[in-house]
Amino acid sequence: MRSEDLFRESSDLFPGGVNSPVRYYSPFPIAMSSGQGSKITDQDGNEYIDYCLGFGPMILGHSNSEVNEKIENKIRKGFLFGTPNENEVSLGKLIKASVKSVDKMRFTNSGTEATMHAIRLARGFTGKDLILKMEGGFHGAHDYSLIKSGSGTLTFGVPSSPGIPEEVTRTVLLGEFNNPDSIRNLFREYGERIAAVITEPIMGNTGVIQPDKGFLEFLREITEDNASLLIFDEVITGFRFAFSGFQDIVGIKPDLTTMGKIIGGGLPIGMLGGRSDIMDKISPSGPVYEAGTFSGNALSMAAGTAALKVLKNSDYSMLSSLSDRFVVEAEEMLSRVGKKAFINHYGSMFQLFFNQNRVTDYSSAMKSDREFFFRFFRKLLSHGIYLPPSQFETNFISFAHNEEDLDRTLKAFEEAIKNA
Ligand code: PMP
Repeated sequence: MRSEDLFRESSDLFPGGVNSPVRYYSPFPIAMSSGQGSKITDQDGNEYIDYCLGFGPMILGHSNSEVNEKIENKIRKGFLFGTPNENEVSLGKLIKASVKSVDKMRFTNSGTEATMHAIRLARGFTGKDLILKMEGGFHGAHDYSLIKSGSGTLTFGVPSSPGIPEEVTRTVLLGEFNNPDSIRNLFREYGERIAAVITEPIMGNTGVIQPDKGFLEFLREITEDNASLLIFDEVITGFRFAFSGFQDIVGIKPDLTTMGKIIGGGLPIGMLGGRSDIMDKISPSGPVYEAGTFSGNALSMAAGTAALKVLKNSDYSMLSSLSDRFVVEAEEMLSRVGKKAFINHYGSMFQLFFNQNRVTDYSSAMKSDREFFFRFFRKLLSHGIYLPPSQFETNFISFAHNEEDLDRTLKAFEEAIKNA
């Protein structure tokens, strides 16, 4: 069935024809049917070089043989018993051995669950009620994450989604990423009530925004001084730049960490982990409740273990230099074509902002030309390049991408920019 026909049927079944809103774009999203390495193929048989990578998990590329083999073996043996299994132990040990701040962890089925439970745990552990998150920070689709930014003077968030009770909104404070003063002011006023600061160490849901020098260190200090917890949401950044979290690259130990995406090898997963004294507050060793029928399921655990074992022997620095070179050449292309745009990138994550100025935070990201981005995105589809369909998502390069893919992509970028 063609993508368009499929979408007609999907629209009768799912709101907006999709099972997650980021997948929708007009007039209808292209449905993919297979993937191999850096390429994906749609329902109509067209092939694309993929920079969405399932919104991040597929860092090894699609259909990795080692991961597939593990999944296939597990399927043959049965995989859901509602009991402990050895696969969760293998994955847990790999994570604990490589992420210094994680003494203990709990697996969940998504990043959303991981951050939701981490927030409850932070409140349960500290006995405080407020959570401080960053403007433009996304931590999944639960009520504590969906608080939008207001104007600079707005202290408490405004729910960006109907259905979030005002009582919940009032427990979430909004700080500005890369603006220590905004955080300091909130601590000055509400410090005694702040259970935790939650942030991605590199913002990956407003494009790619790196922390300014000293910003994460500042967050570590101010949370410690105020007996609040620091939660790094590494759902995107975990195991993306090194065989660890971004936290170990910068040498900062958060109290709690959330991960997801890559650690599941492409199957559903989430993880919250951190200091033993905090994690032991989770039921049944402690009073904070956290649970899930599918949590630690053997299939996700086996896929994640296989993926991490491959990653452990992979050369991240090669992936970074491939990405660095691509960005340098893309920047040269932009100036040759005379198109005002800025590329933010770190390691294998990058985003191109059609913006008059460099993007350093949520409000500068919001000034990007989204309409141009969408035309650029559509043109790229016709050149066989698939990006996540939003100016505010992140593009990912996988270990399966090669120079030829990137050269073709660069040419397509140039064509698309000229003709968008
Ligand atoms: N945290 C971050 C930083 C994310 O980017 C996402 C999803 N993109 C989530 C949490 C939620 O993860 P999931 O989609 O697995 O629920």
